[in-house]
Amino acid sequence: MEQKEDLVFPIEDALEMILMFDRGGKISYANAAARQKLGYESNLCGRNIWDIFPGSFSAGKDGFETECLIGKEHQNLLAYRKNLTCFPVEARIVKEDVCTGIYICMANDILEKEFLGREIDRIRQEAQQAMKVKSEFVANVTHELRTPVNGVLGNVRELLSGGTDEATEKSLRLVERCCDDMNKIINNILDFSKLEAGKFTLEPRKFHFRNMLDYVKANHINKITEKGLGFFMTVSPQIPEYVIGDELRIVQILNNLLSNAQKFTSWGKITMEAVRTAQVNDRIELFFIVSDTGIGIDTGDRDKLFQSFSQVDASISRKYGGTGLGLNICKQLVELMGGRIEVESEKNRGSTFSFSVWVGTCDSGEAALQQPDDVKGASLRMAAMEGPPEEGGENSENIRKYGTQENKENLKKTLSKLILSVEMENWEKAEMFVETIRQLTEEAPREVKRSALRLKMAIQKENYEKVTAEFKELNDFL
Ligand code: ADP
Repeated sequence: MEQKEDLVFPIEDALEMILMFDRGGKISYANAAARQKLGYESNLCGRNIWDIFPGSFSAGKDGFETECLIGKEHQNLLAYRKNLTCFPVEARIVKEDVCTGIYICMANDILEKEFLGREIDRIRQEAQQAMKVKSEFVANVTHELRTPVNGVLGNVRELLSGGTDEATEKSLRLVERCCDDMNKIINNILDFSKLEAGKFTLEPRKFHFRNMLDYVKANHINKITEKGLGFFMTVSPQIPEYVIGDELRIVQILNNLLSNAQKFTSWGKITMEAVRTAQVNDRIELFFIVSDTGIGIDTGDRDKLFQSFSQVDASISRKYGGTGLGLNICKQLVELMGGRIEVESEKNRGSTFSFSVWVGTCDSGEAALQQPDDVKGASLRMAAMEGPPEEGGENSENIRKYGTQENKENLKKTLSKLILSVEMENWEKAEMFVETIRQLTEEAPREVKRSALRLKMAIQKENYEKVTAEFKELNDFL
């Protein structure tokens, strides 16, 4: 049968193969793509559809049994060429006209797609295998390294406990410190390779939040005080006593940020703060801030910070050491805990790293959340070196729920006192007022609370421009 000349469809040149056939299975039209792909050139009309799809269509008593194929989206069929070779297609068959009983089959050659799919699978498998080999290698090597390092460490500690002369003790302490550093690097490499391989799992459990922070503080306080730096830690009373999360990993992030703060600061102070910024059912968002008055980071270098093996420049690694893995691991851990890590910094004025994580709450830990309003506002402060700044004229009695008229008026008053202190460069007073603002915004929505926190950081840095910008933002919220 001749190709129907009157069927001049725009589909003639479609890339898809298009075949029309009747209830008897007889093909009445095949577009150029169908003719070319099936190798029939011009003489496809008059053939039966089961010549093309012998596995899917079969001749029945009155025509063919195709109802089960009709209307379905994308069926995978095998199309046979004239030379009886075949290729996979993704086909859709529709009934064009109920009265005439004309069917249209639209099919796409998916040989290449299947081939590419198989190639992608193969490459993915190879990459996974390579990653597995790499992870196993890293795990083995780090394990092999850890054994002798711990052997050296154990012996050094034994020698130290036995008592030695001053010079030997000094050398042994140095060896001990080197072994500790080496262990830290080994642990970082292990964590990094596990995170990269997607094999890292969090281990959440109930823990005492303030004990965890005390432990972190204890880890760093000696080194910080040895350098003559001040250390302040503030924990919002809105954080329950107990939370459910991966304590070890939160400790790891804080340890990393505090080690860096200590490493890159030679005068001034380091502050650590923890607040509750949001609650959804029994999950709360904790927001941590670690701030220092150290060497700071250039704007251009900030994006590099969270990349693996990235140190701001070679002179940093020469002077301060490190692998450049710490912040990348922190970022990945924070993201696993549903949060974000950010940095604000100014060259030679200091850096502020902040991150959020989501943790669960548990019944025994609800006590802190159920405190009366006036107690909630009184921030629990723990100062390591010197006492915290004294509370200002606004005391905890003035702390009301954020939305009340009284609270907003208090806030406005305190803000204007604060900006006055800033204008007079009385930073100590400004810090006192910003603490009151922080308390007055304890119940505020997250953006307001964060804005107050940023204002506090800017004041601690004595950064006039930033303070005025943050002041404006907070003022706009009111
Ligand atoms: P490292 O183990 O090398 O310290 P990190 O990933 O923790 O690796 O830090 C990467 C780099 O970020 C550091 O080498 C340093 O250049 C910069 N950096 C991190 N924290 C601070 C900070 N508090 N002050 C200044 N620079 C910092």
